[in-house]
Amino acid sequence: MDLRARTDECLILRGRDYNETDRLLIVFSRSFGKMSCLAKGVRRNNSRLKASTQLFSYSKLTFAASKGLAVITQGEAIDVQAGLREDLTKIACAAYIGELLDAALPEEKPQEGLFVLGVSALTLLCSLDEPFLLLRYFELRLLAELGYRLNFGECGYCGRSAMLPRLSACAERGGLLCDSCRSRMSAAYGQALKLPTVSGGTCRLLDGLLNWDLRRIFTLKVTPAMQQEVDAACAAYLAYFLGRPAEKARENLLLYYKV
Ligand SMILES: [Zn+2]
Repeated sequence: MDLRARTDECLILRGRDYNETDRLLIVFSRSFGKMSCLAKGVRRNNSRLKASTQLFSYSKLTFAASKGLAVITQGEAIDVQAGLREDLTKIACAAYIGELLDAALPEEKPQEGLFVLGVSALTLLCSLDEPFLLLRYFELRLLAELGYRLNFGECGYCGRSAMLPRLSACAERGGLLCDSCRSRMSAAYGQALKLPTVSGGTCRLLDGLLNWDLRRIFTLKVTPAMQQEVDAACAAYLAYFLGRPAEKARENLLLYYKV
């Protein structure tokens, strides 16, 4: 943290109580990236920082010039995202988005594309009855913003078109693997590869989630079988690229929201 006071748009990703009246927060600042910071006295009833430092709030925060942990001195809520606190499912989905961002972001490295993605995902979540497609959209685009843009148009090994009745989700190969390449790789590794299988229709859905305009995505009709396949594929991609923290975030989500 440098020694100048600074003000920026922030998302409150995570938080926990600290001392008697403070909270330690992990915030995602548009210009400065992920930061740990202290909201002093915020658990007092009359604290002026209460709304702007609530979990999932989208706020303009000012940080004091200080060494070490940043301290929030002023806050103005742009959107407290009240809709996210309506029920346990929404709270769990919003917490999942916060945990994934926390897992994916290094400290104090600006990631404006991810910031915009995070704000739009949380804002949309407020108004959706069924968050399944939004969560999968968020996961695939999060990976793309981090430099892991998956390809759902062809087998990542031989380049055959993905217009096949069945393929496998394979993060190592950048998205998909056709059955022949899966058999070849299994033989080379000396054991059957444990990969989720996906139908051609599911591949097109994954491609849409990654590349289409959001309004078009929500017009899609998705069968329960496709939901299961998309869910298993996205879980495998996240685990491969983000490791244990992403698996942990999914386990927490599953306590309140199952596909
Ligand atoms: Zn292939």
